[in-house]
Amino acid sequence: MEKQWHRLPVQALWDKLETEPTGLRTKEAQRRLAQVGPNSLSEEKPVPLWRKFLAQFEDVMILILVAATVVSAALGEWVDAVTILVIVLMNAVLGLVQEYRAEQSLAALKKLTAPEARVCRDGEERRMAASEVVPGDLVTIEAGDRVPADLRLIEVSDLALDESPLTGESLPVTKCTEGLGEIGISLGDQQNMAFAGTSVTSGRGRGLVVATGMQTEMGRIAQMIDAVEEEDTPLQKRLAQLGRTLVALCLVVCALVVAIGLWQGEAFYRMVLTGVSLAVAAIPEGLPAIVTIALAIGVQKMIRSQAIVRKLPAVETLGCVTVIGSDKTGTLTQNEMTVRRLYVGGEEIDVEGRGYEPIGAFLRGSRVIKPAQEGLPPKEWMDGHEMIQAALLCNNAEIRLDGEEKGKRRKSADKAGGQAWKLNGDPTEGALVVLAAKAGITREDVENEFTRVKEIPFDSDRKCMTVVVRTAGGGLRVYVKGAVETLLSLAVNVRRRGLVVPLDDAEKKRIMAANDAMASSALRVLAVACRELPPSTRDLDGINLEANLTFLGLAGMMDPPRPGVQQAVERCTQAGIRTVMITGDHPVTALAVARELTIASRSEEVVTGAQLDSMAPGEVSEAVARASVFARVSPEHKLRIVRTLRERGHIVAMTGDGVNDAPAVKEADIGIAMGRTGTDVTKEASSMVLADDNFVTIVTAVEQGRAIYDNIRKFIRYLLACNTGEVLVMFLASLLAMPLPLLPVQLLWVNLVTDGLPAMALGVEKPDPQGMQRPPRSPRESVLARGLGRSVLLWGTYCGIVTLAVFAWGLMLGDLALARTMALTTLTFFQLFYVFECRSETAPVFAIGLTSNRYLLGAVVLSAMMQLAVIYVPIFQAIFQTVPLELSHWLVILFFSGGWLLLTGLWYWIRKPARAVRRQHLLHS
Ligand code: ATP
Repeated sequence: MEKQWHRLPVQALWDKLETEPTGLRTKEAQRRLAQVGPNSLSEEKPVPLWRKFLAQFEDVMILILVAATVVSAALGEWVDAVTILVIVLMNAVLGLVQEYRAEQSLAALKKLTAPEARVCRDGEERRMAASEVVPGDLVTIEAGDRVPADLRLIEVSDLALDESPLTGESLPVTKCTEGLGEIGISLGDQQNMAFAGTSVTSGRGRGLVVATGMQTEMGRIAQMIDAVEEEDTPLQKRLAQLGRTLVALCLVVCALVVAIGLWQGEAFYRMVLTGVSLAVAAIPEGLPAIVTIALAIGVQKMIRSQAIVRKLPAVETLGCVTVIGSDKTGTLTQNEMTVRRLYVGGEEIDVEGRGYEPIGAFLRGSRVIKPAQEGLPPKEWMDGHEMIQAALLCNNAEIRLDGEEKGKRRKSADKAGGQAWKLNGDPTEGALVVLAAKAGITREDVENEFTRVKEIPFDSDRKCMTVVVRTAGGGLRVYVKGAVETLLSLAVNVRRRGLVVPLDDAEKKRIMAANDAMASSALRVLAVACRELPPSTRDLDGINLEANLTFLGLAGMMDPPRPGVQQAVERCTQAGIRTVMITGDHPVTALAVARELTIASRSEEVVTGAQLDSMAPGEVSEAVARASVFARVSPEHKLRIVRTLRERGHIVAMTGDGVNDAPAVKEADIGIAMGRTGTDVTKEASSMVLADDNFVTIVTAVEQGRAIYDNIRKFIRYLLACNTGEVLVMFLASLLAMPLPLLPVQLLWVNLVTDGLPAMALGVEKPDPQGMQRPPRSPRESVLARGLGRSVLLWGTYCGIVTLAVFAWGLMLGDLALARTMALTTLTFFQLFYVFECRSETAPVFAIGLTSNRYLLGAVVLSAMMQLAVIYVPIFQAIFQTVPLELSHWLVILFFSGGWLLLTGLWYWIRKPARAVRRQHLLHS
């Protein structure tokens, strides 16, 4: 049946789908949703828990360990066998929990980046999750949207779709609304249909939903692109490589320990078990999972600060960013426009009022203009009236007074006695609607008099928008609004004191001067023009509408910078990151805003799209290196800028919203899409989405990206140093022909403490305050770079030697069980002290506050208590073959495992006053 939709005329569709031109009623939509289910493709079946649990045992070492346990059970060593099994099981549970958390965060991400749809319900257009769309819904689609369901189009305006995901056809397909009588024509030929999963390349349209979810054509072939790509990050890949080297190294050492032990006459099964336990303890098998958790927790944190990461590797790359290329409007500025000044009929007019509230006077100098007298514009205001009316006709925005506010105030709303003016549509156009309302012209007024017959939507390449209207008297008129230069180059006449006169060079100069004056006060300037067409004109598609225009005037609107952006730009500068403004706006406006935000100060730092076009490749590279503002650029320039920056070795984060921005966003190392104003296509091309469209959020995300990488380094340092210590003590003991310092179960126990809670708690360490005061790290940097490898060796050696020394001390006391207990406790406690040292690479723990990571404190206290239980609770004594320790033993253990921490603390307190004096001195100089 669904194959026949393209054959029906529009009229028949309404009846067939039982829907009205005002859309479905909410209740009816809910009923349909319950009946047909959500509009999404069925997900893959989740892997059952038991499978995931079994997958934890896929590790070779664990399997050998299990085999060795079976051997020891066969030899009657039941306690060993059961204990090792329990520890292995606990390890598996830990792994499972870690994996589950990582998966949960990824699933949450998927939900957050789910597409939205613009649906008309109860006579009102709303944005809602695409999954809630039902058959019969009336849906609007615009350039950049992904079509949410299969639609039979009922209204199109230059609508063209990219249907390549469905048909493989890469050229955009132009759409129409007429019923196509033929039966069985291919999907590619069904020109009055828009299919789910395809995307809008240009224009706009409305259609009725005829199929959702698995019933759509895309559902049939069920190959929608996954919203979140799951791939290993470069760091994860590099760690896997490091892991392999460590495994090889560990295995050699373990084999040596086993061989020496056997040679010294130790029992075979015990040595096998020791070898394998040592391997399990020494190999940082928890590392990949903890890295994923740290990344996933980081992602969660970023979500809370409004940055939605779509691809996990982006978290890492964020820390390496050297240039942030940002759009101006809406990202650096608030995108809440208010017209402040007009240039009409050769004179400048100021406009009062704030926000979207349609109240405000027009001033010629200090004299107030009355825009209407007895319902009509006075003679000297005719030019103004004409221009404002044109701006309102060439416009799709709406403002309306919303009911009593509940809860939070919306961003684009102004308060009016407890009520708020809400904008529906593009803020640039909203500002013009408000301007018209201030002049007493409403949409109803103009719609009574004019009927729109055609629209060429705004496009950031053309930088203008055009409509054709039929007047009540039958005339045909074109209205165009857009960038000043664009319209001036298309205009031949100008309107002045009610007359249309030729546009000469002198007048052009005057207009440009007025434009520059507005732009240099950071106003965004829009020009408006019109043209009369012969009323008999039939073929509107056949003529160039945007030519022979009559220039009507300029509107300068204020778009204040977003709060906090200037500070964020300064933070970037300190962090060695360049901020570059890339805007479609006029160079003078762009520079004025850039100055306010400290992005640029001199006009030499501004490069325009036209200048880029006229440059040789070498010059482009040179210009890109020096410019901080790119103005009047098209999305294609944006792509060139990203490429050039990357060629120059930069790691680039680039924002984008419109459909044409998608290639640049995809090309950047971190492509950033706007959550509110961004199109689906750009979001899909991006690696991060800003829920609040705010530049500050990018900087916060970079900061968090750096912090996450720092945290990963912290627990790599911790895990590797501890493991080195463990291997070393066993190895040295066997070299020195001493008994085994640790039994297999004891080794596994230490491993559980190390890889467990304290390491995970390092993953949630707060960002280092110095994190944004150093240059970005190179993405090619090794995980062990910047002294980490050295530190691991140093501390690992220290740990191995002191544990051996304590063991030797215990042996001298004449009791092997006591010596082992002391060695075990030294090793464990060293790790619990050392974890504090790993909290920061730049400052001693006393500087960052002992208690500032409460998870870590909890993990350490819990681990210490568990260790005490191992020593003092009789049942554990039997299992782990430990003996209770006395005060004298404790003193030795604590001195060797944690004495150094006390010493660094003392050193810190002694030096503190000196440091404070030096800082004071630095501040004053
Ligand atoms: P950014 O790229 O920083 O977001 P922008 O929003 O000014 O800046 P575009 O949206 O590409 O960039 O707009 C470029 C120019 O096109 C604007 O300076 C303005 O002159 C014109 N323009 C913007 N919006 C409209 C519109 N709705 N109708 C007509 N012209 C517009």
